[in-house]
Amino acid sequence: MTVKKPLPGDLEPIETASRDEISALQLERLKWSVRHTYDNVEPYRRKCLEKGVHPDDLKTLSDLGKFPFMTKLDLRDNYPFGLFAVPRNKIARLHASSGTTGKSVVVGYTQKDIDNWASVVARSIRAAGGRAGDMVHVAYGYGMFTGGLGAHYGAEKLGCIAVPMSGGQTEKQVQQIMDFKPEIIMVTPSYSLVIAEEFERLGIKPEEISLKVGIFGAEPWGEGMRHEIERKLGIDAIDIYGLTEVMGPGVACECIETKDGPVIWEDHFYPEIIDPETGEVLPDGEEGELVFTSLTKEAFPVIRYRTRDLTRLLPPTARSFRRIGKITGRSDDMLIIRGVNVFPTQIEEQILRDQRLAGNYQVVVTRDGHMDNLEVRCEVQRELSGKLSATDIQQISKELQHRIKTIIGVSTKITVMEYDSIPRTQVGKAKRVLDERPKQN
Ligand code: ADP
Repeated sequence: MTVKKPLPGDLEPIETASRDEISALQLERLKWSVRHTYDNVEPYRRKCLEKGVHPDDLKTLSDLGKFPFMTKLDLRDNYPFGLFAVPRNKIARLHASSGTTGKSVVVGYTQKDIDNWASVVARSIRAAGGRAGDMVHVAYGYGMFTGGLGAHYGAEKLGCIAVPMSGGQTEKQVQQIMDFKPEIIMVTPSYSLVIAEEFERLGIKPEEISLKVGIFGAEPWGEGMRHEIERKLGIDAIDIYGLTEVMGPGVACECIETKDGPVIWEDHFYPEIIDPETGEVLPDGEEGELVFTSLTKEAFPVIRYRTRDLTRLLPPTARSFRRIGKITGRSDDMLIIRGVNVFPTQIEEQILRDQRLAGNYQVVVTRDGHMDNLEVRCEVQRELSGKLSATDIQQISKELQHRIKTIIGVSTKITVMEYDSIPRTQVGKAKRVLDERPKQN
């Protein structure tokens, strides 16, 4: 077996450094990052001026708490390149993720950013037990999504053989795994179970599958799912965390020897937990919203970026860096459907593009086996209610389904109803989302 637990000599010195060493490095890099952003990202400088803070005010790590947050809204308002901190000719690559409306958010990387990203993903694969020479089957989607290429470059950097399979074509995935015999798979946890089921269908037993480790992320998953994946594929299942705005996958990753929550690569990403209501910084161990500041990024630095992910910071175990607990939810209404980020407002926008449809709608998420299903319920306009033929209704559904698939990237079941079929809320916000998926443990 080539996959093994790391020996101390395998690790980079910073992974086992003292807290003082880590804090010193963080402070030095933080000062650089805040100044770099202030000097080169005009919208952020304006925020600092409004708040009356200046990079010179940053004398200790906790001084970061005085600086303004960045949010997804800042990315949207400055779409596409308004938050980039380097000139266009220094950008080596772009990626994108879903925004709160139809527009996606765009991020950029310099060549050095790409190298640093590859290094933290390489470190993540090593933490998961991978070594040079291992073959890594990458079944995350390639494209604007950071998953595929992020995993790919990390695998190559570690000296592994990267197999850019991308998502979909389950039968081919299985065939290729049987033929090429990779040790490692990187994929969303939900899709790994679809692959596992295909193995089962073919009568292939876990011990006949070459895979030893799976590195799973891009969506929340619990211990129950970990055990199921491990049993069905005969592997160790490791949790990797990341987000496009901060870098992509590989902001944090679990270690195979402890499997106790992703270790944050704190030499590149400085974490804080805040109260999502007040913005106040909370002590380690308390649950709140995870906030990241990039320490080394050139093209797209983020200062106090609000991830909207709810979790807590846990003390170091297998490495000297702190860990994040399971993501228990989000402080906004973003849904993750089969690894794709979906905001209810994006669906609303597509519904309202059809003048025959009214503005009242509901999004229902259920889980069928391991796959998430998204149903969109909407209503026809009052004046059309009871007047449309079955063919009209069918046509409306088909068109809406197509728009949501091409623009947001998820398959949906559409239910077009008569006017006033969806319950109205008398008080407060309309209940747009019914998430009926079982809670992750
Ligand atoms: P990714 O490539 O990681 O999916 P996105 O920017 O599309 O990047 O989505 C990021 C979001 O995905 C995170 O803010 C978080 O909500 C979710 N996510 C990513 N990894 C994990 C994970 N390991 N566990 C739970 N949620 C995750």
